[in-house]
Parts: sequence; structure tokens; C-alpha cells
Amino acid sequence: MDFMVFIYGLLIGSFLNVVIYRLPKDENIAFPPSSCPSCQARIAWYDNIPLLSYILLRGRCRSCGNRISIQYPLVELANGLLYIRFIRHFGFNIDFIFYALMGSVLLAICLIDLKEMIIPDSLVLTILGLSIIHKAINFFVYDINPNILTSLGGLLIAGGFFLLIVLLTGGMGGGDVTLIGALGFVLGLRLILLNILLSFVLGSIISLILLATKLKTKKDPIPFGPFIIVAFFVVLLYGDRLFYWYFNLFL
Ligand SMILES: [Zn+2]
Repeated sequence: MDFMVFIYGLLIGSFLNVVIYRLPKDENIAFPPSSCPSCQARIAWYDNIPLLSYILLRGRCRSCGNRISIQYPLVELANGLLYIRFIRHFGFNIDFIFYALMGSVLLAICLIDLKEMIIPDSLVLTILGLSIIHKAINFFVYDINPNILTSLGGLLIAGGFFLLIVLLTGGMGGGDVTLIGALGFVLGLRLILLNILLSFVLGSIISLILLATKLKTKKDPIPFGPFIIVAFFVVLLYGDRLFYWYFNLFL
């Protein structure tokens, strides 16, 4: 089962690379078929096998020999590993399907924010839409309480808090506001607060390391989306345990 899910994750990861490359340029995601960014040569199907083709071609385009970005196999691998982690956590059920889809969209957002410093609204809306459908199916098919109030609370309070930060400091972008709002809807009020706390801790640590190692200067903008997203994955998988541990520390 793990292996099948891993392969499936690699294939979706391969599609994510197309989204990451084309969406910020407003290009059609489905057409035309993939081509080499350096020489525009069409990439044959046997050179487009996730992970494997990169290794067999030793990271170079078959026609022009230019380097293929390591980002392509890394995104595929990350998505494959994410799916394995999720199937072990959720089991094979509706929760797995929806969180795997959301996880992939978040991975795309993470890479686009790192590369282009933007968070596309279309992807944030996809997260929100997936979460609404997920909750609706859980409610109508499995009779599970969708906790709509805590979800709306999470959306409004997390989004409102980040909006305040943007208005007061200008330190974040509008994309961070909508992203944290959508994730607030997914997680609900209690866990999104943990997500926010963790993203600030992560952001401070990584920023200090980047400044200390002189990889970035104080003037370089550092995108915040990736911190929100890494923190989201931690909270989704370990949130309840973290919450328990955190309060045991003080009570
Ligand atoms: Zn080429």
C-alpha cells in the first residue's frame, strides 16, 4: 500500500512541477505538453517519468544537455513522502484523499512563494474549496460534525490577525492573509492558533540562521508562506499531542 501511494504521490508531484512553473506566468496548465526550458524540445514520455528520468538522464536535458533543475525531482520526492506520511496517519479513507490533495496544493504554494514571492489566490481558494467539500462529505455521508463555527472562527480570527500585521507593519503580503485564513478554516480556531505560533517560531529561527550565515541581508525579503505551510503539516499530524505537551508545561 505504501509503495502504491508513493508512486501516486510522485505522479501528482510531477504535475505540481508544471503548476509551479506555469501558474505564475499565467500559462495554461494542461497544454502544451512539457518542453525543456532551455531548448524548448518536447520532453518524451520516457524522459518524463518522475524521479527515475532525472536519475537516468543524470540531471541533463536529452537534446541540449543543459542542467535540469533539481527542484523537479525534489518536489516529486517531497510529494511522494508526504503521501506515505499521510496514509500512515489517516489510513486509506476520505480524510487521506482530501488532506493529500490539500498537501499537494500547499507544496505548490510553498515553492511558488519561495521562487516568486507570491501566493496565487486560485490555489488558496482551491484549499478552501477542498475543505468545504471534505466537511460536507463528512457531514452528509459519515454523519461527522463539521464544526463549522470553529472553522469560521479560525478563518476570521487568523485572517484578521494577519491582516492587522500587514496593515500595521507591512511585513507580510496579502497572500499570507488569505492563506492563513483558509488554513484557519481547515484546522479550526484552536489548532490554527498553534499553527500561527509555530510559524512565527520557525520564521524567527530560520531568518536568524539566514542572517547569521550571511545568506540573506536585512534588506532581503523572506517569504512567510513556507513557514505557515511547514507549521500546518506539523500541526495537522501532531497538533493534539503538541497542544497537550504545551499546556502540561505550564499547568
Ligand atoms: Zn534542452
